[in-house]
Amino acid sequence: MLLPPANWLPQAPLERLQLDWLSTAGIEVGILRLDRIDPLISGNKWFKLVEHLKAADRAGARGIISLGGAHSNHLHALAAAGKRLGFKTVGLLRGHPQQTPTVADLQAFGMQLHWLGFGGYRDRHAPGFWQPWQTQCPDFHAVPEGGGGLPGALGCAALKAQVNAQLAGLSWSDYHGWWLACGTGTTLAGLVLAEAGEHPVYGALAVPEDHGVAPQVEAIVQEAGRVAVDYALFDASRGGFAKVDAQLLEFIDSTERSSGVPLEPLYTGKALLALKLQVEAGRFERGTRLIFVHTGGLQGRRGFSSCS
Ligand SMILES: *Cc1c(COP(=O)(O)O)cnc(C)c1O
Repeated sequence: MLLPPANWLPQAPLERLQLDWLSTAGIEVGILRLDRIDPLISGNKWFKLVEHLKAADRAGARGIISLGGAHSNHLHALAAAGKRLGFKTVGLLRGHPQQTPTVADLQAFGMQLHWLGFGGYRDRHAPGFWQPWQTQCPDFHAVPEGGGGLPGALGCAALKAQVNAQLAGLSWSDYHGWWLACGTGTTLAGLVLAEAGEHPVYGALAVPEDHGVAPQVEAIVQEAGRVAVDYALFDASRGGFAKVDAQLLEFIDSTERSSGVPLEPLYTGKALLALKLQVEAGRFERGTRLIFVHTGGLQGRRGFSSCS
């Protein structure tokens, strides 16, 4: 009942990314536009939800309950999916009631919101956290913050097939690796599982290096009964999650103007700038072909600009 109709599977377009610093270095990049999968739903958070929706469906759930902040890309994708596919959604929010562009969308999509305060939200990993919500919202399936874990990763594994189906459009017969922003590493873990060592997966860390992304990737891959092979992580956080500096903003602005691809400063802008720094440092040979995943997040930048 929660599943998308069989004829509705969002496809992420794969496009050529044209930028001076890429052509100078002789590097080709295909950008997988998860920001363009659907008019309402956007980004890697949709792919992270797919397996959770299947599990909810198997359990006979009537809806989905999950949690996030007032700018959450995850809650936004969940609420949009509920609206688009016709299932009920409940969102538990961090902090005290506030109106952000994201919150306005959640309400417009029909998500029922509960504000937990900061302490209440901090307890989200405590045993028994979900108990009162399960009582209050029986038949609702709980999805962890951000749609993480093995189910989230497995949904992202589908991206490999979407790329393969579109390689001919770039006149490519193959590619040499992936480059994408990492928060928890769930999306990267999905690609590591899908590739099984066939192509390397490079993660640009949007969070500081001590945030445990590598152990998280290893845990997910192990849970799938496999060993994590051929991935590498690069620091891209520029001093911390959501920390923004003039060079980053200037880079996003000039990239948008020359390529026409919209970016946001938390994930996609930092990931592409980190790629530029690696390319300029000679990390990749001439002739290398990379898939850059545009993980979405553009809805969040509305809130960002009004707060900074
Ligand atoms: C959540 C998010 C990420 C990080 O995804 P993980 O699977 O947590 O690594 C990257 N980009 C955007 C735009 C996101 O919203």
